[in-house]
Amino acid sequence: MRDSEHLCGLFGGTFDPFHYGHLTPVKAVFRAAALARVIYIPAAVPPHRPQPSAGAADRLAMTRIGLAGEADFEVDDIELKRPGQSYTLDTLQDLRRQNPRQRYALLVGLDVLIGLETWHRWEELQRSVHIIAISRPGWRAPQPLPAWWRAARVESSAGLRHAQTGKILVAETAPVAISATRVRARIRAEGDPGDWVPPGVRDYICKHNLYAG
Ligand code: ATP
Repeated sequence: MRDSEHLCGLFGGTFDPFHYGHLTPVKAVFRAAALARVIYIPAAVPPHRPQPSAGAADRLAMTRIGLAGEADFEVDDIELKRPGQSYTLDTLQDLRRQNPRQRYALLVGLDVLIGLETWHRWEELQRSVHIIAISRPGWRAPQPLPAWWRAARVESSAGLRHAQTGKILVAETAPVAISATRVRARIRAEGDPGDWVPPGVRDYICKHNLYAG
């Protein structure tokens, strides 16, 4: 198998904390789109949202723990090592320098795709990579779709294989009604994230007393 034939998924996020919404739908997309692997990329300074509650080292550790045992998924701290804002376009360029023949697809929640136009150099980003959006409870694609989305839309993962970059697939995965915001609120209220996070992540949160205050 050549790298150039198999799409590698890139899944960025704050992972503050890592939860099952970051794992269950991504596993479904991984299988449905026959991805070669998925790289999780914790963001250092997310440009479009409030700063994370937990520090970078804790978020990285929780992401690694949450993915332990997932042979096809890995974590790259590329954005944590880079100073300044975490722009996806820069990350993509760095990864392509490391592995020029690899083809990539950004995996994002549907909420993120809907907000794409607020991203740094978003049109260039959209043209330069495939995007697979994952269903997220409470979010629906706008009707009508904006022109850029309509032009790039494909209906199946086959459509991603026929083009080098620039296509958008909305994957219909079973919705998972968990967000990091809800997990943090649950910890504040109940002192425990319960089963919304993998057991190792739960242990880490409790041991390090994260999100309690
Ligand atoms: P917060 O509640 O703090 O905003 P979050 O739960 O959205 O956090 P992030 O780390 O910001 O988590 O998200 C990383 C990626 O995971 C984004 O593309 C987001 O849309 C996606 N995502 C998060 N939770 C889910 C979910 N339950 N289903 C599908 N995608 C999700």
